[in-house]
Amino acid sequence: MPQLRQNIITGDWVVVAPERAKRPKDFLIPKSMTIADKTKCPFCVGTAGYEENKKNLEYQTPHIYVIENRFPAFLETETQKSIRTFFPEGTDFYRIKPSLGDHEVVVVEDHDLPLFKMPKLILTELFEVIRTRYLKIKGHKGIASIMPIYNHGGEAGASIDHPHAQIFASGIVANTVGRELDGADKYYGENGACIYCDMIKYEMKEKVRITYQNEDFIAINFFASRFPFETWIMPKKHESQFEETSKSSMANFAEAVCKVLSMLDKTLDNPPLNFYIHTLPTIFSGSASYHWHMEIVPRVSRYGGFELGSEIIINTMPPEEAAHYLKESQN
Ligand SMILES: [Zn+2]
Ligand SMILES: [Zn+2]
Ligand SMILES: [Zn+2]
Repeated sequence: MPQLRQNIITGDWVVVAPERAKRPKDFLIPKSMTIADKTKCPFCVGTAGYEENKKNLEYQTPHIYVIENRFPAFLETETQKSIRTFFPEGTDFYRIKPSLGDHEVVVVEDHDLPLFKMPKLILTELFEVIRTRYLKIKGHKGIASIMPIYNHGGEAGASIDHPHAQIFASGIVANTVGRELDGADKYYGENGACIYCDMIKYEMKEKVRITYQNEDFIAINFFASRFPFETWIMPKKHESQFEETSKSSMANFAEAVCKVLSMLDKTLDNPPLNFYIHTLPTIFSGSASYHWHMEIVPRVSRYGGFELGSEIIINTMPPEEAAHYLKESQN
């Protein structure tokens, strides 16, 4: 089964999750699986791959269905069969844990509805489905945090061309969310306010990095963006938990995502892209200092040696200019 291993020097976690018996040559060329022949697509209704996946069907709505990932990074139970057994059982030096949790795939039924073409109604359905599954998974034993994500395009890690989101749930808190929680907590201690709420107030005053807003949500090009056109979408009112978003507010969230995606598409012409939701770990019931948000990251630049070695990212597009281009694309 997959295993969580802790970096004993920094405390960061990694998941070691073998997919079947991969050999070195399988790693030579990372390739996206573009399926021209839809009869071979494992997510298209009616194909042999779909019939296999349907055995793990968890949930369904008019345009979307949810299945268990066949090669999960996090397993629901320890009894699920191990794929390979090269793992050490335990060690008194390194810290390891079984990689428990959940890993679901949220599939939009229509193969020809890639992310940038999804209308607001489908996006609303998608986020409502994600919320429903989130609440269900949150109730499982041993879950500490849940992260919904979306990969679009091979360069962004999408291994199958058919539109789908994923939900990762695990017994640990993501390295990134852990750092955000610490920073937000420290700011709250010093200023008695949520740092995200203060940032929204500041951005609304400056009006330089905002690309879109509606009644409930605001989209900004984050001041310290790591990547060109990196966009954050945040609830305007303080909300620490994604899953607590009201139904009407969720529709406004989908609207904001739809608008931002359209700007990115018009500006960058169908770029490979990831988005993920950072929200309060499920071990907490609410927080005055943490504020949930979505980060949208077009993958139009690559990590070089310095970025990998230092985690100091060189971003060649100032967020202020990025915001300007994105807004201009709407004219
Ligand atoms: Zn398909
Ligand atoms: Zn806040
Ligand atoms: Zn974040």
